[in-house]
Amino acid sequence: MLTTATERVSLPLEHAFTISRGTTTEAENVVVRITDDGDMTGVGAAAPSAHYGETADTVEAVLPDLFAVVESVGDPHALAEIEARMREAVEGNPAARCAVSIALHDLAAKRLGVPLYRLWGLNPGTAPDTSFTVGLDDLDTMREKTGEAVEAGYGTLKLKLGTDRDREVVEAVREEAPDATIRVDANEAWTPRETVEKSRWLAESGVEFIEQPVPASDPEGLKFAYERSELPVAADESCVTLADVPRIADRCDVANLKLMKCGGLLEARRMIHAARAHGLEVMLGCMVETNAAIAAGCHLAPSLDYADLDGSLLLADDPYEGVPMPDGEIDLAGVSRNGTGAVER
Ligand code: MG
Repeated sequence: MLTTATERVSLPLEHAFTISRGTTTEAENVVVRITDDGDMTGVGAAAPSAHYGETADTVEAVLPDLFAVVESVGDPHALAEIEARMREAVEGNPAARCAVSIALHDLAAKRLGVPLYRLWGLNPGTAPDTSFTVGLDDLDTMREKTGEAVEAGYGTLKLKLGTDRDREVVEAVREEAPDATIRVDANEAWTPRETVEKSRWLAESGVEFIEQPVPASDPEGLKFAYERSELPVAADESCVTLADVPRIADRCDVANLKLMKCGGLLEARRMIHAARAHGLEVMLGCMVETNAAIAAGCHLAPSLDYADLDGSLLLADDPYEGVPMPDGEIDLAGVSRNGTGAVER
C-alpha cells in the first residue's frame, strides 16, 4: 500500500534570471511524497517549464491520475512498469511524471538501503563538476555575478547569450574569469549563419561549446551550424525525449538532457545510452529546481560528460537539502543518506 502527498513550493531566485526568451524571479515547483506501509517516504519534485507547456497548475491537475497508476501497481520497485503506464495514462506532462519517478526511485533506493547511484552501479567519484550559470544582464551586473561565481570557487561558467551585446558580454566575463571554462547558451536566439560567425570569436575567447544556437523548429539550421561552427554544438531544446536522440545525432556534438523534459529517470538513462550509441557526448541540465528534484539528477552525474545542475544554487533559499556541490563538485560520496539524499531543511 503506497500513499501519496503533494506540496506546492515557491522558490525565489537569488538574482532575477534572464535568458534570451525572458526573465524569471521566482519558480514554482511541486513536491511529491510517496510513503510505503513501513512509513518510509520517497520525495521528488516537478519543476514545470512553460516552454514545454507545463505550470504548477497543470502538474497538480494530472498528479491524481499518476498517483492512481502508482497505487494500482502498488510496488515501488516496479519502476519501469510505473513509468510506462504513467506515459500511457497522461499525454505529455513530463515534469509531473518526473516528480513521481524521482519520488519512487528515492523510495526504492531507501528500501534497499543504498544511495541511488549504487542502485545503478555508478562510481560516485567520476561525476563531472557542475557549471554555474550567469544569466543575461547589463555588463556591469554580469561582471559582478561572474566575480561572485569565481570567488565562490566555480571553475565552469555557463553564459546565457542571445542579444546584440553577445561579444561584449563574453569579453567582459572572460576578463573577470580568465581561467574558467566557459560554455554559452543562446536558447535558440541565433540564425544558423550568425552561429557560424559567432563561433569564430567565441573560439578565440576559449569558449568550450555552444548550446542550442538556433530554434528547435529549424533542424536544418542546426545541421548547417554544426557542420560549419568552429566550436562543438550542444542540443537542448532540440533534444527533449528519447525519440529526439537519433534525430539530432548527425547535427550536434552533445545531447543536453533534462529530467523535466524527458519525464523520468529511467527515460533519462535510456537517452544517455541512446546518445552514446550515436556517438554523442551527454550533458544533464535542469530547470530552476529545488534539491528535491536536482538531487536525483546528481546521481546520474557519473554517467555524464557535462553537468549543468545548478538549479538549486541559483535559489535565494531552497527548502530541501540535496547533494552538496562545493566549488561545483558534485559530492555524491559526501551524502550519508540513502535514496537521492534529498531532505527537508
Ligand atoms: Mg539550455
